[in-house]
Amino acid sequence: MSAMIEVRGLSVVFDGFRAIDGIDLTVEQGELRFLIGPNGAGKTTLIDVITGLTRPTTGEVVFDGRSLVGLREHQIVRLGVGRTFQTSVVFEELTVLENLDLAASFRQPLWSLARRRRGVSDAVAGALEITELGPLADRPAGVLSHGQRQWLEIGMLLTQGPKLLLLDEPVAGMSKDERERTGELMTSVARDHTVIVIEHDMEFLRRYASQVTVLHEGRVLIEGSVDQIRDDPRVQEVYLGR
Ligand code: ADP
Repeated sequence: MSAMIEVRGLSVVFDGFRAIDGIDLTVEQGELRFLIGPNGAGKTTLIDVITGLTRPTTGEVVFDGRSLVGLREHQIVRLGVGRTFQTSVVFEELTVLENLDLAASFRQPLWSLARRRRGVSDAVAGALEITELGPLADRPAGVLSHGQRQWLEIGMLLTQGPKLLLLDEPVAGMSKDERERTGELMTSVARDHTVIVIEHDMEFLRRYASQVTVLHEGRVLIEGSVDQIRDDPRVQEVYLGR
């Protein structure tokens, strides 16, 4: 295995406040890694640095062998880093298929337009299949349930050919069935992508996570399996016991 993403000596200082205080983190190709930690631990800031929204004060981020520091957001997307936010980017008035097509077209070269005119592109067909949204392809996204909308967003990311997907609390607000379906979707996506998920739900972690990184006050507190981190007194103190 080789590293998909390597963060070394990362710090981010906002007006004298250290939001990230010396993080080293390696996520190997094909991993499904969960990132947890109490509010303010630095999870979002870390993802913001990886996706080019925030510049680090010190340190290095190497993605698939290439430094991301100093690159713009769109350059990082084109290198193969996709991200969902807690706020939805789905266009409600467009159908599921149109949303996927639109996302795909952001990185499709012109020569592929002829192919798209003939029908659904391979990337869109693949996204419909993995998200199981095929039967809803022609429905407006506005009628989708909360869970289906999240899956559509993951599908939209997948059409852009990412190597690494960063998902920010994807199961927040979902029903039990939707959580289960999301866990299965993540597991299948992780068969040929690297996935980093910010998630708090311990029950969800117990079912779907193998490796978990716990952040606290801008540092890595501990890394390990769900059982290892759950039984660690430091984690109970800062996270579970709050
Ligand atoms: P988490 O996602 O783990 O809840 P964040 O990465 O959002 O944590 O925040 C880490 C810390 O950095 C928090 O104390 C937050 O208030 C602070 N922070 C985040 N972004 C900014 C910013 N743009 N300016 C100042 N402080 C910030």
